[in-house]
Amino acid sequence: MREYVSGLFLILDSKKYTDDIAFRGISPFEGQQTIVVKGGNRETSRRGKALDLGNTIKAKLYKRHHYYLTEAEIVESFSFIKSDLVTIVLFQILLAVLKHTYFLPERSFFFSLYQSLLELNEAKDVERAQLGIFLLIMKVLSFYDVVSFPFTCNICGVHTYQGNFDYLGYYCNDHKAKEGTDFSLFSNEDRVAYLSLILKDQLNITLSRHPFPKHHAPSVEKRSN
Ligand SMILES: [Zn+2]
Repeated sequence: MREYVSGLFLILDSKKYTDDIAFRGISPFEGQQTIVVKGGNRETSRRGKALDLGNTIKAKLYKRHHYYLTEAEIVESFSFIKSDLVTIVLFQILLAVLKHTYFLPERSFFFSLYQSLLELNEAKDVERAQLGIFLLIMKVLSFYDVVSFPFTCNICGVHTYQGNFDYLGYYCNDHKAKEGTDFSLFSNEDRVAYLSLILKDQLNITLSRHPFPKHHAPSVEKRSN
């Protein structure tokens, strides 16, 4: 017997096969699932076209060994967020972090995150969206104990947005650790540089796109001795 499920899914990742697509999505009720779309990679498939990264779809599925998609309707495509290179990259980082961390259906957390994304998309303010998505990434990383944000200096206890960190924690500019890694969160470039370090170290995520190609070496450098 077929077990049908329907609900909202935020699309985190998708893989194309000859005829089919398999995508990874988060739902507040079903948690994170891999869903197969039979024939989704055919030119004529409307379901396949709804599956762009970062879209939210209203999906109807059935379960038989795997989940299979029968119907999909785009609820939100976050078109404003997808209109600026920095927000695109930050949005992709957010999706990658969710993919690595979000396995349990923690509804209230998912809904507050989703609501914030909708607001940032609606506000149509690029700087606000850039900062807002960065803060959402930090919120997810904090929620799963990857980091503890806002950072507080290990020595004096003030909130710090620039300084360095080592395996024991973070330090403000006045109390930098002797062999720490510098960071700053004041510009998009510095934020992406910080995230690319932390994600590689903590979650083994390597950024596939970088919004600052001219400065490929991150402005935050690791001191080796
Ligand atoms: Zn300090």
